[in-house]
Amino acid sequence: MPTTPCPCLTGRPYAECCGQFHRGDALAPTAELLMRSRFSAYAVGDVAYVRRTWHATTCPPELELDDALRWYRLDVLGTTGGGLFDADGTVEFRAFYRAPSGAGVLHEVSRFVRMDGEWVYLDAIV
Ligand SMILES: [Zn+2]
Repeated sequence: MPTTPCPCLTGRPYAECCGQFHRGDALAPTAELLMRSRFSAYAVGDVAYVRRTWHATTCPPELELDDALRWYRLDVLGTTGGGLFDADGTVEFRAFYRAPSGAGVLHEVSRFVRMDGEWVYLDAIV
């Protein structure tokens, strides 16, 4: 549905927010937007997009999304680099989920690099 709010909570419709990246109509121009679109991919269950935006050297060979997790909120806490003219960057965020065993929060600083003009997720800095 075109007016469904985007899971990344920008307030924009999904189709015009992360949906355009999931469909392949556009590339995320910044690391933060890529991170948001990956969160939304987890929320809508788009495993192909999660794989496509994962660096080839760090992407797990087997990847399945846990259907029991419901990702419902994303807070972006800060970014470094990751802009239109950068080659790498980080995004710190909290991602909130509900599961049958209880709710939880993933707090991570993710590293992103630009590969052939496309932002991809590299790994998490502990
Ligand atoms: Zn979005």
